Amino acid sequence: MPRAMSRTACRTCGQQVSTNGLAKASHARKHVREGLLVEIESNYWADGQMQHSRLFVAPTTARRYLDNEPGVGWRVIAGTPAPASKEN
Ligand SMILES: [Zn+2]
Repeated sequence: MPRAMSRTACRTCGQQVSTNGLAKASHARKHVREGLLVEIESNYWADGQMQHSRLFVAPTTARRYLDNEPGVGWRVIAGTPAPASKEN
């Protein structure tokens, strides 16, 4: 039976976490401290307004954002992105 507080499986560790935004962010920050996730943010223009987005992503994904979307201006808030790829 579904409970009043809805829960979702964490994509990093599989643990059930609350879908509440703050609870999810604090759970994600635990993984940032463990080196499993990186917190990144960007400000960009869309629809004539400055938008802000903040993400928790794996270190390799963070590296991809930083390398491939320079125009969007992603920057690292916390954690360590994977080293730059030597492929290009
Ligand atoms: Zn987790």
